Amino acid sequence: MSIRPLFRRSRVRLALWYSLVMGGILSLSAYGVYRSIVQSNWGAMEREIESIAGTLHDSLEPLLPTTGDPTQVLQRIVPDLCLVGQACTVNRTLIQRHTTGVSDRTLYYIRLFDHHGELLAFSPNQPAPTETALTPVWQTITPPDGKRYRQFTTILHNAEGQTLAGHSHDSWGYLQIGRDLTALEAEAQRIGWILAIALPVTLLVVALSSWGLAGLAMRPIYQSYQQQQQFTANAAHELRSPLASLLATVDAITHLAPTDPQTLFPLLTTVERQGRRLSQLINDLLLLSRLEQNTATTPLQRCCLNDLVSDLAEEFLELAIAADLTLTSHVPAAPLPVWGDEPQLYRLVANVIANAIHYTPPGGAIHLRLDQSDRTALITIQDNGIGIAPADLPRIFERFYRVTSDRSRQTGGTGLGLALVKAIAHRHHGQITVTSTPNQGSTFTIHLPIHPDRASPRQPAPLIPLQPWSYPPPQ
Ligand code: ADP
Repeated sequence: MSIRPLFRRSRVRLALWYSLVMGGILSLSAYGVYRSIVQSNWGAMEREIESIAGTLHDSLEPLLPTTGDPTQVLQRIVPDLCLVGQACTVNRTLIQRHTTGVSDRTLYYIRLFDHHGELLAFSPNQPAPTETALTPVWQTITPPDGKRYRQFTTILHNAEGQTLAGHSHDSWGYLQIGRDLTALEAEAQRIGWILAIALPVTLLVVALSSWGLAGLAMRPIYQSYQQQQQFTANAAHELRSPLASLLATVDAITHLAPTDPQTLFPLLTTVERQGRRLSQLINDLLLLSRLEQNTATTPLQRCCLNDLVSDLAEEFLELAIAADLTLTSHVPAAPLPVWGDEPQLYRLVANVIANAIHYTPPGGAIHLRLDQSDRTALITIQDNGIGIAPADLPRIFERFYRVTSDRSRQTGGTGLGLALVKAIAHRHHGQITVTSTPNQGSTFTIHLPIHPDRASPRQPAPLIPLQPWSYPPPQ
């Protein structure tokens, strides 16, 4: 089954989820913004009406007549209102006087009622009367003209606390102030429209960016999946060759006469060699996987690099001589301890020395050094062998990467040697760097942090931040 559709489906799903979540959050935020703007406009409008009502109420009350027909008095004290039963001249100065600073003064209307609820005076722009009860509360009315009005009614008392025309009532009458809601509702509608247009556009942008982000998120997974597939294919390929050779040899043995030990012995040697090669490959794969998953269980301990490098120089000397190579080494007298797993550190340096021996033609020289730079121990393995082309340098630490497959296989290499070296160096918070010139030789340098306390071997080392492997080496 092709893996691309699977990744594409996952990307679509991821993008959809991103869009849904972001869309939901944005829609809720947009609704919240809309509601808060509408609420604040509405609140501001009510505060304005209340303030005008308060001002008018306080100015009118001391002037209200206590007896007789109020019409004459009202004409005198509120000349800007139309009186019921009299011709009305359009003049809005009263309302304008009491709404200083209000943006649109023509929006407001005033009505004065007596204590029976009979209309006495009104603004010329008042809405048509409705059947609503006259109570001192907030009301939203919708007269037959279809417009909506918000109005506030307050009770009036006259200066002496007496009632109109000697009647015994609690109040003189009512003052009603209201305003047309058309502008306010149009404003709310405009905001609604802006959000209704902006939201789908934003959602589209969110969907597109979600698709892009999902692609970005999937990329490393896809790459890692491809690497994993490549690794499986490489591992299968590497296992197949020795296994096929082993089976062919066993097959040949089964066809031999049992009394032919001279032919049998070399065949058995081949079986053993291929068996060892398989075992080596499987061990390397297991170690690499443990290192990369960081599941190695061996506790780290203080290891003396001086001993380790000297031992390895001694051990590989025989192999170097057999290959007609000179192997020299330099180990300082001062101890350079590191915090690590000794068998792994041994494997780390041994792999690089073995490669130097394998890739240096007879007559060549290999030099092994241990140095200190600041708080880092440096193990340098220098050879004057075949070298590595610049194009191959960044890839030699990849699993199963070989510059020349045939030559590498002849040396018995599995193609995992440097991948293991890199993984071990990382596990020890170190790194490995390389410089090489084709036909002139290569220099591998292993950098390992020195144990902070050289004197006491039992003190645990503090955590040193993991340093990424770098190529080319930092200057
Ligand atoms: P192998 O097991 O094939 O040696 P490694 O991972 O150890 O695999 O090395 C990867 C490749 O790097 C080798 O195939 C070889 O071509 C190249 N290489 C490693 N060390 C050296 C060296 N000292 N000189 C030249 N080439 C080297």
